[in-house]
Amino acid sequence: MVPREYLARIRPGDPDDPLLRQVLPLDAEGRIVAGYGPDPLGERAATAAPGLVRKYATRALLLAAPVCAVNCRYCFRRHFPYAEVPRGLTAMEPALEELRADPTLDEVILSGGDPLVLPDETLARLVARLESIPHLTRLRIHTRLPVVIPSRVDDALLGWLRGTRLTTLVVVHVNHPNELDTSCRAALRRLVQNGVPVLNQAVLLRGVNDDADTLAALCRALVDISVIPYYLHALDPVSGTAHFAVSDKEGLALVDELRRRLPGYAVPRFVREVEGEPSKVDLGTHGWQEAAPW
Ligand SMILES: *Cc1c(COP(=O)(O)O)cnc(C)c1O
Ligand code: SF4
Repeated sequence: MVPREYLARIRPGDPDDPLLRQVLPLDAEGRIVAGYGPDPLGERAATAAPGLVRKYATRALLLAAPVCAVNCRYCFRRHFPYAEVPRGLTAMEPALEELRADPTLDEVILSGGDPLVLPDETLARLVARLESIPHLTRLRIHTRLPVVIPSRVDDALLGWLRGTRLTTLVVVHVNHPNELDTSCRAALRRLVQNGVPVLNQAVLLRGVNDDADTLAALCRALVDISVIPYYLHALDPVSGTAHFAVSDKEGLALVDELRRRLPGYAVPRFVREVEGEPSKVDLGTHGWQEAAPW
């Protein structure tokens, strides 16, 4: 599934188009590759209530929607059991109860699927429930919708985002500068102009953004619209995605090159998610492991 707005940014007739590569199913996905599995991040084990993932201290992930607006072929939740994600607020009660019961939590991350596929009325009601939990101070929304369907950033969305007592942040997902067309840039700017900081997470992908020119252009285009390049993720070893892999050594060299070309705030942290770790592993600090399966 790919929205028309996103398709319009793909160059017709170019099988190597970096946006097409992100969404086009390939035969290579069927290959079984050692080290790649259905749940490399151990999210199933970290599920505290239906839809609630507790992997990190002080923040919890609420998987608020079972679908996305686009199916990214490298998605780390490709094999996630979305049938277990609650549909509707009533089904979210156990997750909300768990959030209420743990005063060490101060942030909720709405994730998915993509939480912004839900109607604004549902989101506003969910946010009202989260606001009623006194120890929560921040709401983070992980979404690709402002990128793939920029018109989703409308008055209704900005209404509940601006209206909440919670400090809101939006984390989007852009991998290539061609994704940032005029309407996408306008949507992201609109979030920022309404007082919502916007951060970007990209995934380092073979054949999409694994060269310094593309990554530098992406980071520059982001900071030009006040979006901070937050993370550059090493690919999670999810089965069916091995053809996108870039070695950590190459990734580190690319980020070093970005550091030479860009202001410090425009250089993302190069990270990997490792099952059981309390935070992402910063590969720039910890280096790469020759023997790792990736
Ligand atoms: C890393 C990650 C988080 C947590 O983000 P931090 O910014 O490290 O707190 C939440 N959701 C997903 C899917 C992540 O990969
Ligand atoms: S938008 Fe994010 S969660 Fe949805 S398919 Fe793409 S990578 Fe996966």
